[in-house]
Amino acid sequence: MTETTFPQTMGQQFGRRSWAEPWKIKMVEPIKMTTRAEREQAIAKAGYNTFLLRSSDVYIDLLTDSGTSAMSDRQWAGIMLGDEAYAGSDNFYRLEKAIQDHYGYKYIVPTHQGRGAEHLISQAVIKQGDYIPGNMYFTTTRLHQELAGGTFVDVIVDAAHDPTDLSPFKGNIDLNKLEALIEKVGAENIPYVSLAGTVNMAGGQPVSMANVRELRALCDKHNIRLYLDATRMAENCFFIQEREKGYADKPVAEILREFCGYTDGAWMSSKKDHLVNIGGWLAVNDEDVFDKARNMVVVYEGLHTYGGMSGRDMEALAIGIGESVQDDHLRARIGQVYYLGELLTDWKIPIVQPVGGHAIFLDAKKFYPHISQDKFPAQTLASELYLESGIRAMERGVVSAGRDPETGDHRYPALELVRLTIPRRVYTQAHMDVTAEAVRAVYENRENTNGLKMVYEPDYLRFFQARFEQL
Ligand SMILES: *Cc1c(COP(=O)(O)O)cnc(C)c1O
Repeated sequence: MTETTFPQTMGQQFGRRSWAEPWKIKMVEPIKMTTRAEREQAIAKAGYNTFLLRSSDVYIDLLTDSGTSAMSDRQWAGIMLGDEAYAGSDNFYRLEKAIQDHYGYKYIVPTHQGRGAEHLISQAVIKQGDYIPGNMYFTTTRLHQELAGGTFVDVIVDAAHDPTDLSPFKGNIDLNKLEALIEKVGAENIPYVSLAGTVNMAGGQPVSMANVRELRALCDKHNIRLYLDATRMAENCFFIQEREKGYADKPVAEILREFCGYTDGAWMSSKKDHLVNIGGWLAVNDEDVFDKARNMVVVYEGLHTYGGMSGRDMEALAIGIGESVQDDHLRARIGQVYYLGELLTDWKIPIVQPVGGHAIFLDAKKFYPHISQDKFPAQTLASELYLESGIRAMERGVVSAGRDPETGDHRYPALELVRLTIPRRVYTQAHMDVTAEAVRAVYENRENTNGLKMVYEPDYLRFFQARFEQL
């Protein structure tokens, strides 16, 4: 591990300075508070799957940070500047420039959201029988790699699988594991290394600059491309600023440019970092790959100057990119996540440490040691949290991991987690207090809780639509 500084809390890092938001509230959206009886009905109707709840039955919605951000007044003003031309909209050129300026890649293909870009890059460069190493899988990323004929191989550092390990960069790729794979299958069967910022499935853990620099050298040695899942890369760069030696005085925007400079391209779900409700893109430096992706985008997404977005979407996105890399924004965004993490840690509730950038991950195996993994402890915990308080969270455990395509058995991941994902610029500190109190109540009731039985299972990405019954 490289030399790092790692503050345990945001408070230590910033002395007496608070993480308070660099904005004030101009418009509010009322939300419904429900009774226990109403919630019992709603979750049973949803098959104990929080994805199947109606959002109007939810009080604090921590299902995801995807597409749930609050836009700024500037972005809403940008909406009025939508140039809704089919081809060559002005908004596209502003978007293209924002991506080039902040991420540094040459060629841009817009898509409706992240998985559209994953589809294009996977089909463009993966051939049947290929291997794609990466730092822990992400659901849609791995599925598109598999649908293109590839096999994903997890080469993340071992620390990522240990929710108590306090290493500062648990998203790093283990270069020994990667070299071993290259030796085993041959560099010619590895179209690219799939590197993700703040690894979601590991609890939002970042990748260090030292790691990407070493990866670049290894990829160059074997002539393998290095592509980045840039979805939460701005947040990853905040962690580099906070934890990695030599970066404390550099703006996040500069760190981001440096990081991307070690990679050959990226795909992006703008529904995360970029503070918009829809959008995404693929960006590469290689003209051949760009040509293929631009050819395909017209089949699957839309013309190459809108890719499934309207002009106004692209304008809001171009503005959001600029806002997403501002230090004050990131300090408040991640400071709020830390705040919730500190409350839960103080109350001895088992969560993944260190706290990640976009979410708190509850350790369901520790909540419910008496519920075996085939009874879905994390799914159970998410439904209990809703019943307690109307807070909606998400399972990230055996249900999300799906089945092994070879054996047909459940994949049993080491981590069985529930994610409390914090939307950007949406909830207040008081909402975080209510959330922490609700988690504590569920924890105190843990011994009276049983698992779930799956009664309906879809073929793809089953966590979205599976249905359960209480045992
Ligand atoms: C959300 C996400 C994606 C997929 O993006 P969508 O916009 O949901 O299609 C890919 N990678 C990561 C890391 C994500 O969080």
